[in-house]
Amino acid sequence: MKNSMSRRQFILAAGALAGSAALAGCGESSTSSSSSQGTSSSASSSSSDDSYALVKDGTLTVVAELGFAPFEYMDDKTGDPEGFDVDVINAVAERMGLACEYLPNQKFDTLVPLIKQGGKADVAVAAITITDERLQSVDFSEPYLDSNQAIVALKGSTETEETLNDASKQVVCQGGTTGNDWIQENLPNATRVPVDDVTAALTGVQTGLYSAMVVDLPVAKYMLTNSFSDLDIIEEIATGEQYGIAVSKDNPNLRKAINKALEEMKGDGTMDSIETKWFGSTI
Ligand code: GLN
Repeated sequence: MKNSMSRRQFILAAGALAGSAALAGCGESSTSSSSSQGTSSSASSSSSDDSYALVKDGTLTVVAELGFAPFEYMDDKTGDPEGFDVDVINAVAERMGLACEYLPNQKFDTLVPLIKQGGKADVAVAAITITDERLQSVDFSEPYLDSNQAIVALKGSTETEETLNDASKQVVCQGGTTGNDWIQENLPNATRVPVDDVTAALTGVQTGLYSAMVVDLPVAKYMLTNSFSDLDIIEEIATGEQYGIAVSKDNPNLRKAINKALEEMKGDGTMDSIETKWFGSTI
């Protein structure tokens, strides 16, 4: 590949840059910009088959909803994104020889449409469950974590799946999530309340505004341990979900390069150490 590609597309040869660029963490800028101006070399591949487009040259641009601890949240002091997913995508970018930058926080239900539309972010990483419906709009990396749902209510609450399935019960969830889908399918009589913010939803359960919340199990566990000690997980729901990194269908080689990085990270213990850092053990 030569430098003749469109400046807008900034095509990079996936394999060629790996290991060559100075690496930078998410939110930081690259310390070296040697030859990253939309260029690539063909050191490891003479074919353009593995090239992919990036919104910003030399950088993996990430979009997320940053209110989903421990997966992604804003550090209180610095305002920088932190969490399991942030560490994962940072390590992925590093292996691809790219810097990694987060766009400002976005609502969860805008993430898949934003990747589908293109031009703003290369990937959405937000504990996004791979679903058939989403696969109609975007592609996903190979799964990087297994997950389930949880029903959260006040400690000592006598609510069950059965008692919640009643119009008098307000069951809150984050809009556009698989928790929302689960309520629709399994508590069809309950009054479902989709909101944007998980912390606001849990606070509403705490104050009695809502009878329960349905949310990803690891998030329920983390939030209850760290901030909502008066709430309880009243039921774990084995949905068998898997999280993936959302990539545009127009960028299949980006997906391939991300999968390669994830595979390396699974093989060399990086994933295990990120899991242990955030969950105390591997999941
Ligand atoms: N895993 C859930 C989903 O994909 C929730 C993700 C989230 O709220 N960030 O819908």
